[in-house]
Amino acid sequence: MHCSRLETCAIALTAVLLLTSASGCTASKTTPPQGIQQSSQLNSTSLLENGPMQSLSQTGTPKLLDGKESTLRTNKALSLADLHHKYKSTFLFSGPTSKRQVSLTFDDVPDLIYTPQILDILHNYGVRATFFVVGNRAAAHPEIIRRMVRDGHAIGSHTFTHPNCNKVSDTKFQNEITRTEQTLANITGYKPTLFRPPYGNVTEQQILWLASQQYHIINWNVDSLDWKGLNADQVSANILGHVRPGSVILQHAGGGEGEDLTGTVQALPHIIENLHTQGIDMVTIPELFHISAGK
Ligand SMILES: [Zn+2]
Repeated sequence: MHCSRLETCAIALTAVLLLTSASGCTASKTTPPQGIQQSSQLNSTSLLENGPMQSLSQTGTPKLLDGKESTLRTNKALSLADLHHKYKSTFLFSGPTSKRQVSLTFDDVPDLIYTPQILDILHNYGVRATFFVVGNRAAAHPEIIRRMVRDGHAIGSHTFTHPNCNKVSDTKFQNEITRTEQTLANITGYKPTLFRPPYGNVTEQQILWLASQQYHIINWNVDSLDWKGLNADQVSANILGHVRPGSVILQHAGGGEGEDLTGTVQALPHIIENLHTQGIDMVTIPELFHISAGK
């Protein structure tokens, strides 16, 4: 259950597309494509006689074969980066930089191996965090969810079965959310307003529906990359090397099959002590953004 593997791929893909697009623009400015050079050698008569059949506008300019640009561009799916920009108020990445506060967030909980160890460490240091819960795991281990609430942590939804939301129908997606709401409401007494999509993937329709249901989509701007099975030093470096006031830090406290989060557990005391030394407080997501945790 790697939250960020596909997210990383999606961002990388976007970057590749942007780079490809950018390099294409540069090439067209400096070296005209061969086809254009060849065409320029032909006179207009031969173009009309030998070229494909094209209808002409009143000014003599050939019409675009498949219609105006807006016809085909309108329904093109937006990239993840486009969606983040378009729905700024629904996506939350980082809090205000004016306060020395950050949020520790942990995905894919609860499990019986790593989640209790993470909770023990947070309890020992008196630190509160935010947990993104997989609904069917909460149903399997409700006592761990009750402990999170008792210890003062915030709880958000991470779907019921942890699907790649880009691949599920809107009906199935809404069912993932409402089943998790009901499961958590039965355990905690309230429905969550925080949602983190598995792998970071979510469609525009799903964003609109989540917003209509009073959800905030909680992303992050510091990624521990702990799902790669990194050791404690690597997890610490990934977090402490990038953290700044307002950061939302992504970690995992529930393992997928064959996943080893020992590095996350072993790094946590050092991370907490280091942040304390820097005078940085760890608060929950609702505290960082001044939003409600439940509805
Ligand atoms: Zn996840």
